[in-house]
Amino acid sequence: MDFDLPETTQHLSRRLVEFMNEEVYPNEALYAEQVRQGPSPWVVPQVMETLKARARAAGLWNLFLPNKEWGSGLSNLEYAPLCEIMGQSPIAPEVFNCSAPDTGNMEILARYGSKDQQQQWLVPLLAGQIRSCFSMTEPDVASSDATNIRTSIRRLDGGDGYEVNGRKWWSSGAGDPRCQIAIVMGKTNPEAPIHDQQSMVLVPLDTPGVHIERMVSVFGYDAAPHGHGEIHYDHVRVPAENLLWAEGKGFAIAQGRLGPGRIHHCMRLIGVAERALEMMMERASSRVTFGKPLVQQGVIRNWIAQSRIEINQARLLTLQAADMMDKLGNKAARKEIAMIKVVAPSMALRVLDRAIQVFGAKGVSHDTVLAQFWAHTRALRLADGPDEVHLEAIAKLELRRK
Ligand SMILES: Cc1cc2nc3c(=O)[nH]c(=O)nc-3n(C[C@H](O)[C@H](O)[C@H](O)COP(=O)(O)OP(=O)(O)OC[C@H]3O[C@@H](n4cnc5c(N)ncnc54)[C@H](O)[C@@H]3O)c2cc1C
Repeated sequence: MDFDLPETTQHLSRRLVEFMNEEVYPNEALYAEQVRQGPSPWVVPQVMETLKARARAAGLWNLFLPNKEWGSGLSNLEYAPLCEIMGQSPIAPEVFNCSAPDTGNMEILARYGSKDQQQQWLVPLLAGQIRSCFSMTEPDVASSDATNIRTSIRRLDGGDGYEVNGRKWWSSGAGDPRCQIAIVMGKTNPEAPIHDQQSMVLVPLDTPGVHIERMVSVFGYDAAPHGHGEIHYDHVRVPAENLLWAEGKGFAIAQGRLGPGRIHHCMRLIGVAERALEMMMERASSRVTFGKPLVQQGVIRNWIAQSRIEINQARLLTLQAADMMDKLGNKAARKEIAMIKVVAPSMALRVLDRAIQVFGAKGVSHDTVLAQFWAHTRALRLADGPDEVHLEAIAKLELRRK
């Protein structure tokens, strides 16, 4: 693996850091204030649209998509350091149109969408005009095993459409007023072999029968203005053209989507950990207890060193997974992706926990970004597959080598 980043990435990286320093960090507090002051939590703060326009004008837009026709064409390895920089602020991924779940959904549309589907949904998503959600998880079944999904997608008599019936939750982004489209996973043929039963359809959220019933919170954070929606799809009818790829391909599409989505989370988490370490060092240098700055206490120095080691370890594993995805494809890199999906959230949680401790009571308040980062990072030990499912996948692949 070549550790030298190409000139294009170095150049983009310098410009991203500049943009973060000049535009993103100084506006984090204003963004939070506008969310708080809005007429409802589900109103997009004006400052976000302003920042998006500036990022787009600066050419720092849609960097995530390796697809040359629609995206930047950057490889996963080239994108990794850029995604890490975006991870350092909770508002940054959206500023650069690189936030979940839209990135994964755009990836699906670019790879599996028809020309019409791409025109109708991918083009406005790439322009940052609308947002999307991904409806796979269901409250009534253990959804870490996607074969359990019960929602039905029934072909209508005559074949000119589908009817969707089921209940989903954790459809992230469904609360956002700009969210117009859901990618829904369900069963088209419960009699088929287990991995051929599911399909995915595009459901515009204004279709009759789509009921967004509530937003689910993460440790009390409601992720406003995007929200994690519980949605009841009640006799929802969509035309046959809304099917993605083909009947029975839902599982294959989910696998294709989750690889890149997972590694992006990990790249951003390395950014989260870097920011936490920087904050920890700054605070420890200025805070004095028992006659000396915290930074002179052995235990704090140990935490700083330990954090640096763990961040670098996780980064190397992430880069290796990205490199394998580029060279051998997402499927061949599935063990490496699973490995980093286990390593990165736990690593970032440890670093955040140390930073919170150094900040004292302020660390658990809303006065720094640490508490919000912690809640989000903890949820990532579940979202896109719980640790245990990834560990099982790694064990299976390891044992197969015997
Ligand atoms: C913040 C957040 C955002 C999310 N966004 C989305 C989204 O946009 N769209 C979407 O569809 N879903 C989303 N999810 C849902 C997420 O993908 C699921 O929660 C996850 O797949 C686990 O499913 P489950 O909650 O049904 O847990 P279950 O399947 O009930 O599993 C419960 C626990 O069982 C254990 N377990 C499972 N399998 C094994 C095993 N083989 N061996 C040992 N232990 C095991 C694990 O500890 C697991 O946590 C989101 C979740 C969160 C927290």
